[in-house]
Amino acid sequence: MVVLVTGGAGYIGSHTVVELLNAGHEVLIVDDLSNAKAEVVDRIETITGKRPRFCQADCADKTAMEQIFAANQVDAVIHFAALKAVGESVKKPLSYYRNNLDSAMTMLEVMEEFGCKKFVFSSSATVYGPNNPYPYKEEMKAIESSSPYGWTKVMIERILTDYCTAHPDFCAILLRYFNPIGAHESGLLGDDPNGIPNNLMPYIGRVAAGKLEKLTIFGGDYDTPDGTCQRDYLHVVDLAVGHLKALEFAAGFTGVEAINLGTGSGISVLELVTAFEKANSMKLPYVIGPRRDGDLPAFWADASKAKELLGWEATHTVEDMCRSAWNFAKKSS
Ligand code: UDP
Repeated sequence: MVVLVTGGAGYIGSHTVVELLNAGHEVLIVDDLSNAKAEVVDRIETITGKRPRFCQADCADKTAMEQIFAANQVDAVIHFAALKAVGESVKKPLSYYRNNLDSAMTMLEVMEEFGCKKFVFSSSATVYGPNNPYPYKEEMKAIESSSPYGWTKVMIERILTDYCTAHPDFCAILLRYFNPIGAHESGLLGDDPNGIPNNLMPYIGRVAAGKLEKLTIFGGDYDTPDGTCQRDYLHVVDLAVGHLKALEFAAGFTGVEAINLGTGSGISVLELVTAFEKANSMKLPYVIGPRRDGDLPAFWADASKAKELLGWEATHTVEDMCRSAWNFAKKSS
């Protein structure tokens, strides 16, 4: 299959491209490099021995996308490209709505023009909002979010659902990610955000590398076993394999299907910090600070649908996640 991967130079995108190439698919990356580096394409080639096609473009640029589809027989699209910083989205909601909705709708319009009917969407557990009990199940009804970033995921899920109703021969798979962490075992690909990281594991990596002084754990007084928040952390390579399985499923499916990608269990921030220290034989300086606005105390996935429909389940341990994250962080520091 020829797979167009938007945002394919980013953290989850690049790991997915590796799995696609290893499985024998042809890959065309479209990335505007606004939050990724061109050298990721070289690194993918070093890992797989295959060079994906690469086009530096904004996937909301319809003319550019039409040119790409005219020049390539694209069988399926995996759409990662999006702005993704929750806190920034609260400050710049219009940028988030404009960018994330425009790029998804442009891709759909161009796919329609060229008869491409398989779409895998990078959604998020944030769509379960603050009011659903965990573990989260795909059929839960209260689909909402607490940030403009999260609302763009809710809205694009809605757009894809309506599009599938109008086009019964189209297939949209909504992959709801929990908390991906870790890195490729080569240490060549990983989560390396610009500026000070917002997410926990890249922050831990920079503290471990001595680039940041200490970790602040946001809140130690939640109603959880150790007072810190609980999340469903999964290895990014497991998540990447989930995309490959979703694509294989999509090949024989029409309609819309939401699928959680998580391990099915949660661990706390303190447990993750302790696991990181143990896996990498080091001490991590941290303090317990105030809660961060908008954080939920705890949630994790019901991961049974991914197993039933895709034959997918997470296989990496928390130790694998912590070891690979440090292997990447120390190489890129
Ligand atoms: N967290 C933290 N300190 C940090 C970054 C994150 O204590 O510097 C906590 C955060 O409060 C949450 C968990 O780590 O409980 C995961 O946060 P992250 O931003 O990685 O993902 P989220 O679950 O918010 O999507």
